[in-house]
Amino acid sequence: MTDLNLEHWWQPFTNVRAFQKNPRIFTRAEGSFLFREDGGDVLDITAGLWCCNIGHARKEVADAVHAQLMELDYAPPFQFGTPPAFQFASRLMEHTPEGINRIFFTNSGSEAVDTALKIAHLYQFARGKGSKTRFISREQGYHGVNVGGTSMQGLPTNRHGFPVLNEVDFLPGMLDISRNAFSRGCPEHGTERMAEAFEHIVALRGADSICAVIIEPISGAGGMVPPPRGYLQKVRELCDKHDILLIFDEVITGFGRTGSAFAATEFGVTPDIMTSAKAINGGTVPMGGVFVKDSIQQTIFDHTPETVPEFFHGNTYAGTPVAAAAGLAALDIYESEGLFTCASGAKGEHWANTLHAMKDLPSVIDIRNYGLLGAVSFDPGEAPAKSLGPKIHQRCYENGLLCRAVGDHMVMSPPLSITESEIGLFAERFRKSVLEVL
Ligand code: PLP
Repeated sequence: MTDLNLEHWWQPFTNVRAFQKNPRIFTRAEGSFLFREDGGDVLDITAGLWCCNIGHARKEVADAVHAQLMELDYAPPFQFGTPPAFQFASRLMEHTPEGINRIFFTNSGSEAVDTALKIAHLYQFARGKGSKTRFISREQGYHGVNVGGTSMQGLPTNRHGFPVLNEVDFLPGMLDISRNAFSRGCPEHGTERMAEAFEHIVALRGADSICAVIIEPISGAGGMVPPPRGYLQKVRELCDKHDILLIFDEVITGFGRTGSAFAATEFGVTPDIMTSAKAINGGTVPMGGVFVKDSIQQTIFDHTPETVPEFFHGNTYAGTPVAAAAGLAALDIYESEGLFTCASGAKGEHWANTLHAMKDLPSVIDIRNYGLLGAVSFDPGEAPAKSLGPKIHQRCYENGLLCRAVGDHMVMSPPLSITESEIGLFAERFRKSVLEVL
């Protein structure tokens, strides 16, 4: 039991009263492990919150952050600039899909999403299509917690009770266990259903009223669901057909998670706008960003008088030199250790095999994988059994494994730097925990 005073910090997405009765405190991290207050090691199979892709406590990043703090800790980003922010922006463009060579820095994924929605609006307005104000999102989608992102939420608990914009329609969610159970990688079914729903929304609202579609290429917080085959290509095709922008929310899928630097590259589909955060600098200093096609920025520039800011929007900490220095150091690690592509190589294969070998565990109704992402779904059963996910989550923690429960789906996203033997340790601790609960 901790001797910390737990009353004053109101923690995010936390059942605070339950936490106060059963506190779970981490005090240290290294590589693929977090360490509890009692000293016990916990294998971090979530890479923090899908962000510590290069592993924990990397000295190279710590040194870069320290050096930057001593050289130039902060300078205002409004009307001024610093070398690390420009250098980091340029380095990032070596990894973006063709035609995307601009980034607007934010502090988080939520800010990146709301910024992306505003850029999309501004673009439509700039090119004389001001009536295009509606958005299309997707059921089970997660797009952060700001008002714009909350409005795009396809997860009911993240919307209920909050102010939301009403000009949003939803495509059906991609999770379809009845038809796609135990698929490896992209499942077979779902593209047609999505296309029908898309056309239905366009027919109902009119293409002239729709600004953009926003989707995660792989649904993350909705239970880790890869897109059905041909799905993203079809979305792109429909967006082009109806003159609608396509926004990929790559807050989870960016930075090597899928086997490419971005899911857009992995699936060969280029969106118009792409959000990012989390692993952008290895989860070390808060930072996010919105990648934008050059042509979108150009249209907005062309329609703005030269005497005023082209985009009247921004944050105090947007592109701070410290976050950018962390990003440059993290990028060195991603590049030199081949982390952007390792998820599609032998490591990804080993991960997929390990995960699918869990099929014999009791109550498992589906296993999904893509790159270094994974999910094991348990039968929700009758009402009292519904808290299986949280129970397995707690038992995993006690047995030295951090994974994430999304309802009855156990979701995984290990650091990309994870070793084969650590993947073996994951299997051992996960299996033991599930068998103890069931
Ligand atoms: N978008 C997606 C797809 C996410 O998964 C998340 C966070 O998990 C966000 C946006 C919000 O990011 P943040 O928590 O940094 O605000």
